[in-house]
Amino acid sequence: MTTADLPVIVIGAGPTGLAAAAHLVERGIEPLVVEAGPTAATAVRGWSHVRLFSTWSELTDPAAEKLLAAAGWAKPAADAYPTGGQWAERYLQPLADTLGDQVRYGATVTGVSRLGRDRIVDADRERQPFTVRLALADGTEERVLGRAVIDASGTWSTPSPIGADGLPALGEHAASARVSYRIPDLRDPAVRARYAGRRTAVIGSGASAFTALAGLAGLAKDEPGTHATWILRRGISGSTFGGGSADQLPARGALGLAAKAAVDDGYADAVTGFRTETLRPTADGRLILAGEDGRRLDPVDEVIVLTGLRPDLSFLSELRLALDERLQAPVELAPLIDPNQHSCGTVYPHGHRELSHPEPGVYLVGMKSYGRAPTFLALTGYEQVRSVAAALAGDTEAADRVELTLPETGVCGGAGLFDDPAAGQSGPDGCCAPAAPALVQIGTGISLPLAVAEDASSGGCCGS
Ligand SMILES: Cc1cc2nc3c(=O)[nH]c(=O)nc-3n(C[C@H](O)[C@H](O)[C@H](O)COP(=O)(O)OP(=O)(O)OC[C@H]3O[C@@H](n4cnc5c(N)ncnc54)[C@H](O)[C@@H]3O)c2cc1C
Repeated sequence: MTTADLPVIVIGAGPTGLAAAAHLVERGIEPLVVEAGPTAATAVRGWSHVRLFSTWSELTDPAAEKLLAAAGWAKPAADAYPTGGQWAERYLQPLADTLGDQVRYGATVTGVSRLGRDRIVDADRERQPFTVRLALADGTEERVLGRAVIDASGTWSTPSPIGADGLPALGEHAASARVSYRIPDLRDPAVRARYAGRRTAVIGSGASAFTALAGLAGLAKDEPGTHATWILRRGISGSTFGGGSADQLPARGALGLAAKAAVDDGYADAVTGFRTETLRPTADGRLILAGEDGRRLDPVDEVIVLTGLRPDLSFLSELRLALDERLQAPVELAPLIDPNQHSCGTVYPHGHRELSHPEPGVYLVGMKSYGRAPTFLALTGYEQVRSVAAALAGDTEAADRVELTLPETGVCGGAGLFDDPAAGQSGPDGCCAPAAPALVQIGTGISLPLAVAEDASSGGCCGS
């Protein structure tokens, strides 16, 4: 057997990894998808209660649809918005099922390298197959070989901590029983009981934080005493609540408006410019958050941290990757998605060239390709893997072609997220017309300085 006869190893049976497998099959290349969880879409099932802001028409991949159609799959109504659970059950698991034993479950990738060549060895390196180390659900280990590796393992398992410095706040670990990094599923009686009638700090400024705030506001209508304290590292400006009605994905725009309503209606207070330094328990078991500026907030019962996700690069350490030092995204892709430069959350479609590394045959795709940048869309991942599969098949013309137009977020101050919006300068991306920043008045008795946007990692203008 030569290296060319080996399968392409795809890490992760999420939306992007499964789409990669479908494109490889379409190209006559054998995939082997290795998935840590017991089913397809393990990460998506982790937020099964969350309704997506994309419609079904924006959540399925064309090559995957062809495989599914051959198996008698009925496409859900194009304009309906599924939950994460429905995305998994009605599309992702059936897609994995059509791939049969080309998907292996309970197989966690713990290392990737070149066979017999660690990171420093040049000799004959590119002719060696990739070796992928698996930890299996039964406690054993295995090695599989591949001609290429597509890492679609997402970022779901590595949420960012509270600290604005990227480190856990002092006391964050010790308070873990009262700290969650997920959008609460308030349909679950146990989760509902955890937040009902309690005060909860929600930290973050992206779509996930909006969703959590809206959920807690809904709970407060039924359960008096339920209250949220919304903690933003930055101030509040016209872009804080996302693009609203200007968002080309209306349901995404509506999330920010729901968060604004939670504050307007008095179910949440907004604390702006607050960089949490410590989390300390009170004598009665509540938590006090103290900021770097010395401010101390009123005690809360629970803390929900939605400050973004970050990639787990640990199992790729024997590969020669070129990653941007800030975003931990492929260097060629990073300028397209860098929230320092892009205010709009609008990303130009891209493919194998932007996703390449010094180590040929390795691609980070999907949510993981964005590193710490926000606003990843499933459609972006589908276009990425279409291009990567074409490149692996040697079809450079198809690999270089762009077949996607992405919707804009409608969040456009004209300046990069880290710039001073008061300056109102046009951002380098030029993706939307510059607009003067607007001060958004929310709630009562809250001091709202004109924002200096500075917190892209916690969701940027509209990311999770
Ligand atoms: C709450 C939420 C709402 C979202 N809403 C939308 C939306 O409305 N529209 C939209 O376009 N996008 C949305 N996104 C963004 C994005 O489309 C999804 O996160 C999508 O699931 C990303 O797909 P992925 O395949 O790249 O990663 P994932 O879905 O995270 O899949 C990665 C898979 O890899 C597996 N894995 C991880 N590590 C390993 C390992 N070491 N070995 C083997 N397997 C591993 C995981 O178990 C998982 O199954 C949303 C994201 C979140 C979190």
